Amino acid sequence: MAEHTEETLDVIIIGAGSAGLSALREVRKRTKRFLIINDGPWGTTCARVGCMPSKLLIEAANAFHHRTTFDTFGIQGADQLTIDITRVMQRVRKLRDDFVASTLATTQALGARAISGRARILGPNQVLVNDKNLDAKKIIIATGSRPIVPVKWQALGNHLLTTDTLFEQEELPASMAVVGMGPIGVEMAQALSRLGIKVAGFGSNKLIGGLSDPRINQVAVDLLSQEFPLHLGEKAELIPEPGKNCIFIQAGDINVSVDKVLVALGRRPNIDDIGLETLGISLNEQGLPPVNPETMQIADLPVFLAGDVNDHIPLLHEAADEGHIAGLNAVRKEIVCFRRRTPLGIVFSDPTIATIGEHFRLLNEKNIVIGEVNFDRQGRARAAQRNKGVLRVYAESESGRLLGSEMCAPTGEHMAHLLALAIDRSLTVWDLLRLPYYHPVLEEGLRTALRNLAAQLPACSESDLASCGPFNADALD
Ligand SMILES: Cc1cc2nc3c(=O)[nH]c(=O)nc-3n(C[C@H](O)[C@H](O)[C@H](O)COP(=O)(O)OP(=O)(O)OC[C@H]3O[C@@H](n4cnc5c(N)ncnc54)[C@H](O)[C@@H]3O)c2cc1C
Repeated sequence: MAEHTEETLDVIIIGAGSAGLSALREVRKRTKRFLIINDGPWGTTCARVGCMPSKLLIEAANAFHHRTTFDTFGIQGADQLTIDITRVMQRVRKLRDDFVASTLATTQALGARAISGRARILGPNQVLVNDKNLDAKKIIIATGSRPIVPVKWQALGNHLLTTDTLFEQEELPASMAVVGMGPIGVEMAQALSRLGIKVAGFGSNKLIGGLSDPRINQVAVDLLSQEFPLHLGEKAELIPEPGKNCIFIQAGDINVSVDKVLVALGRRPNIDDIGLETLGISLNEQGLPPVNPETMQIADLPVFLAGDVNDHIPLLHEAADEGHIAGLNAVRKEIVCFRRRTPLGIVFSDPTIATIGEHFRLLNEKNIVIGEVNFDRQGRARAAQRNKGVLRVYAESESGRLLGSEMCAPTGEHMAHLLALAIDRSLTVWDLLRLPYYHPVLEEGLRTALRNLAAQLPACSESDLASCGPFNADALD
């Protein structure tokens, strides 16, 4: 029988990932009567096995890949360069450990307020952990997600990798398949290929990297296919090769044999035995309760569901926002609604895949105009030997207001942020054209797309520049 603790806490946070820690920041400013509980390693998915180690691997892969342009720049000897995968992986883990250490500092300082253990809710105000029943006025569930691995593939043992195990590898095999071409699959497939591994990519969906615009998708598929074979539109099956140290993959007519498979089929919310059924509300077919994305509250209960666990938008800045909202609402009498940020998704491929604002698939093509730029001839991109990719911008045909953009464009992360700002502020094409564009920069490519868009709208002005009133100076007026 579980022991019952007398103290009623103000808030219990379950899960010390980015959402949980963001909630903690708000909660601890306002009350000392809180607990944060975490199962498994502390240090967050982002820092341990997510954003940070994946980007460290990508940086190493891109640094090595740049040798393929050296000859064009007049630099000789690139074919003599080799890569030491053991050292690449050691650097990934060394820097990763630094990032983890900085997140651990927060929870280590909490003493008894931070508990290791697997928590389960017993109702809207009670949590069971380590055989103790704890009462709380509010509960924040921020238990994250984990990689999906089909049950029938689990028997493939260490032939199978996920991003939970990839970065722990001392060595990487000669050949790999990456199954699943969402953002994580695309990033890892290109990085592994650029590190010299023979990669084959598989995706059952023809759209990759979270893109929804078929034109941009085709550009991304064509460019990635120049680096490694990409098999899209068929479900992949993994078959062990008896007596051989490899796995056989079948997808439609394609048959490939590889040393290991990275499974990147998406992530499943960690709700299996968290006790959501004890809340007395109906759950959807995934087992998830209704959550208000502006308050993170579950129905009208004193329970909040924040971060990847709610399966809304599995991105770091969104998980942190959701934790922040849940943390604030958990310590307030009145629940407050928060407007969510302009959608922004970046895939750290080269060229960068990005989606900003409204997804193309959700826009009615009849009511929008589309501006486009191809980076093949763009000056700065050519100077850097990075002249590949296309960017499209969508605007409301009536007003010229910017609605969204999708791109597979060189160093697109910066243009993606600029577009997110413009969309967030409800700017029009002409507003954005009024900015200064320094020469020569990649953003001049964005300006080309905007001018292309403006040309399709009813004429607004003869110039990008805003007209001004009289100067009141004889010489100028
Ligand atoms: C390979 C990879 C690359 C990524 N790259 C990016 C990127 O570039 N940019 C970006 O924005 N996002 C990226 N993400 C997504 C980002 O990492 C996540 O959105 C974010 O980490 C989610 O944070 P969270 O707090 O919801 O979950 P987590 O950080 O996973 O935290 C959940 C915590 O809850 C614990 N827990 C689970 N069940 C229980 C229980 N019953 N009791 C107690 N504790 C429990 C877990 O062990 C975990 O510690 C990436 C993810 C991956 C996997």
